[in-house]
Amino acid sequence: LSTTELAQATLTQIKAMNPQFNAFITLNEAAGQAIEVEVGADQKLMGIPLAIKDNILTRGLKTTAASKILSNYMPVYDATVTKKAQAAGLVNIGKTNMDEFAMGSSNETSYFGAVKNPWNTNKVPGGSSGGSASAVASGQVLAALGTDTGGSVRQPASFNGIFGIKPTYGRVSRYGVIAFSSSLDQVGVLSRHVRDAAEILQAISGYDKHDNTSSAKEVPNWQVQGDVRGLKVAVPEEFMGSGVDAGVKEQVERAIQVLEQNGSTVDTVQLPHAQYAVQVYYIIASSEASSNLQRYDGIRYGVRAKDVHNLEDVYVKSRSEGFGDEVKRRIMLGSFALSAGYFDAYFNKAAQVRTLIIDDFNKVFEDYDLVVGPTSPTTAFDLGTRIEDPVVMYMNDILTIPANLAGLPAASVPVGLADGMPVGLQLIAKPFAEQTIFNAAQVLE
Ligand code: GLN
Repeated sequence: LSTTELAQATLTQIKAMNPQFNAFITLNEAAGQAIEVEVGADQKLMGIPLAIKDNILTRGLKTTAASKILSNYMPVYDATVTKKAQAAGLVNIGKTNMDEFAMGSSNETSYFGAVKNPWNTNKVPGGSSGGSASAVASGQVLAALGTDTGGSVRQPASFNGIFGIKPTYGRVSRYGVIAFSSSLDQVGVLSRHVRDAAEILQAISGYDKHDNTSSAKEVPNWQVQGDVRGLKVAVPEEFMGSGVDAGVKEQVERAIQVLEQNGSTVDTVQLPHAQYAVQVYYIIASSEASSNLQRYDGIRYGVRAKDVHNLEDVYVKSRSEGFGDEVKRRIMLGSFALSAGYFDAYFNKAAQVRTLIIDDFNKVFEDYDLVVGPTSPTTAFDLGTRIEDPVVMYMNDILTIPANLAGLPAASVPVGLADGMPVGLQLIAKPFAEQTIFNAAQVLE
């Protein structure tokens, strides 16, 4: 099988399935043509199709962030992760649907329409990397890149019954990734198998001089062992509270027992400030977003409003027409939190509480190797049921956000079903201890 044959077969399959799931925004029709060799030749990943979330720049292939304002945007350079994936032999097969600018938990804020969950097409696939998750879970691709600012790789992985990992902040370059919240954003991998995610993460990790938050720490050669003997596992009381569905809790508890049976010890611990994570996140993420999204002015990028009479008009009309409701909500919230009279009361306070959340984790990691709990309090919910109530939607991310605020590597591994829908176990490790996550996840796979 040649790389071109595999790419063409994959494209045919995606075209047949896209009307049903809407997981892709743009396909790379030229996929695989650049290198016509046997799949797997020279490099393990040679010729393997990879779906890429549409907020990651791909030179010459439209990149929209699922926003109207970027609906015609053609990048003139590749993100570092795009380049690295290509250098490892992976073939960019197309760009996946997502929540607009990665703001959302259900993929319903996309300008290109909602994505469907392959387990039940009346359910959301989660978000914001919902297209990536749906594409993998429905068998269109083996793996996909996503981004995770507050849970956007792990929650859709959980909702779709696949593996998803967000590495340590700084492990993977953010250069060429459309910025949402720069102190939280990380690129991650979604795949059916833990080993595939480890291979792909290996390929895209490492220091990048174009991203001054990227880490110079050496990327180890990850080996997926499936070994948790002697591992000290902590279950935060706050992650198993009354907000978590009984069916989810049951599967999570069963999975924790499996870790125990395989030789790890399990204790209950406290993360007392985790309860403030959602509030802290929405102030910090929205503040950074309001600043990052200033660049969409109708002049340098994307769609410019017609019928404009002066410069102010260009800005106001382009942004009013180009951004969706959720993005506008975040810009308003962030601008408010950063404004002179309120900066100390909101942004500064949030930054202080963020430090308390980090300290909570540091304390737990003095005695433990891994923090586990549910990835999401519920399984995938019905399309259309939460989109009208932002606070209900935001609360869905209460269990994934803490790892972003603390910059920790975290993953979701499928551990069973509740009422026919997949449940994910979240695994959070010490900074740069992705290896611990891979080993534990492999035991549960
Ligand atoms: N759902 C969260 C939000 O809407 C997280 C999104 C993300 O991780 N990109 O901000």
